[in-house]
Amino acid sequence: MNLSLYGYGTPAKKDWIAVDCGVAFAGPELPGIDLVMPDPSFIEGEKKRLRALIITHAHEDHIGAVADLWPRLGCPIYLTPFAAAMLETKRLSEAGAPKIPIRVIRPGERIELGPFAFEMISVAHSIPESTALAITSPLGTVVHTGDWKIDPTPVLGEKTDEGRFRALGDAGVLAMIGDSTNAIREGSSPSEANVALELEKIIAAAKGRVAVTTFASNVGRIRAVAEAAMRADRQVVLVGRAMERVITIAREQGMLEGIPPFVSAESYGYLPRDKVVAVLTGSQGEPRAALARVANDDHPEVTLAPGDTVVFSSRTIPGNEKAVGAIVNGLVKQGVQIITDRDALVHVSGHPRRGEMEQMYNWVRPQIAVPVHGEPYHMAEHAALAKRMGVKEVILANDGDMIRLAPGEPDVVDTLPAARLFKDGYLLIEEASRVVPERRKLSFAGIVSVAIAMDERGVVVGDIQMDMAGVPEQDAMGDDLADLVEETVLDCVEGLPKARRRDPDAVAESVTRAIRGTLNARWGKKPMCHVLVVTV
Ligand SMILES: [Zn+2]
Ligand SMILES: [Zn+2]
Repeated sequence: MNLSLYGYGTPAKKDWIAVDCGVAFAGPELPGIDLVMPDPSFIEGEKKRLRALIITHAHEDHIGAVADLWPRLGCPIYLTPFAAAMLETKRLSEAGAPKIPIRVIRPGERIELGPFAFEMISVAHSIPESTALAITSPLGTVVHTGDWKIDPTPVLGEKTDEGRFRALGDAGVLAMIGDSTNAIREGSSPSEANVALELEKIIAAAKGRVAVTTFASNVGRIRAVAEAAMRADRQVVLVGRAMERVITIAREQGMLEGIPPFVSAESYGYLPRDKVVAVLTGSQGEPRAALARVANDDHPEVTLAPGDTVVFSSRTIPGNEKAVGAIVNGLVKQGVQIITDRDALVHVSGHPRRGEMEQMYNWVRPQIAVPVHGEPYHMAEHAALAKRMGVKEVILANDGDMIRLAPGEPDVVDTLPAARLFKDGYLLIEEASRVVPERRKLSFAGIVSVAIAMDERGVVVGDIQMDMAGVPEQDAMGDDLADLVEETVLDCVEGLPKARRRDPDAVAESVTRAIRGTLNARWGKKPMCHVLVVTV
């Protein structure tokens, strides 16, 4: 999840621009949480002088938090036509989403914002209209690479604008803030055009149906599949809402010129098996996406059979291996042939390998390099590469670090709070809140709830009410754990000194401790315990 801030001015009075505002996807360590995003509290406190939020491209890790966080920033947002359409489509799909002041711009336009000026520079990546930024202030020019790679023959959109980067380098660049994702990989990425050729070969050779799964936003890849299908005289069926949304935008913006209209999922079953290519969402094993449903044989329209082929034109993002593995196994059981990037060149990353990073350093020749966008290992490798390329100052920073680029010696000068926010249903909750740790405890050992009514003398009135969830019914000896808990509660209350019995909080505390002790002895685990003592 990306959110960068550039400031200019004295410590007491700075003008700011923000770059990107993205999300990360929560894993099983955050039960019930959909998305994670940066906590914008710091810049929220400075929002009066926040001049703009610039979005480099429409990937979720760069744009996904805009709808949730913009109300706290309140500034205009600068982005390309494709990113603007993606944001707008998402906004319209969420009830009550704010109307956001959008400024659509294109690479090469120069925008002045107080002491800053900036321009977008086209870069190749894995989504249309990806950009790097050149941001100038009276103290120099900063190149913020965004996500990029060098691809001499992209299937769609502009190449990385070597000429512009070289010109900036000639004029002098103070600092480059750059993508580290593939800094541990030698050489240069293959081109999207090579992937397109490989996909074409696979589709041309296939006897049965072909299904290709890829990232919904990779319009270039979907275009390559569509071209291959066209040449093999096959129709394309799009399956998955996320993909339909992106493709609608891509069509409107002329990115699919020359490609015949896609047919609806309902017609899939009526097409001869050698006349169809399905393009599906779900390459990361998402359980509700189209591919998972096909693998489980419960998709209403799309089925596969022995002799059909599924191409994973994607990379499994770390953490998703199990989910993807389950889908692959489900498909193999149906007799489907699987092709992944281990078998053929059916996917390339959108990020630069070392060879491409070296070229970029040769073009831009910054005085300072700041590796970003990667794990610590990737950023350290990027730092070493920048040093080898002769960059004078390389600054490795952590989330929240404030770096002085100029004037004077560049350095980390301050650390700001850089907490995260969690999207929980409709709500944004703070990382420090009790919600997630409580959920984790609940998932580990369940909960026991007890209600006790007592009169003012501290005598139990009526029956004790009790309920348990996530607790086994019996212990190893076959004793009923609910009965044991109930006995424990009665024994505990009766054993309490009279004075303590008249204090509901004290009773609740003792009963909680007793229940957890009993269950720990019989079960080896201590569940959460809610004891409610009511005085009647
Ligand atoms: Zn990206
Ligand atoms: Zn990214």
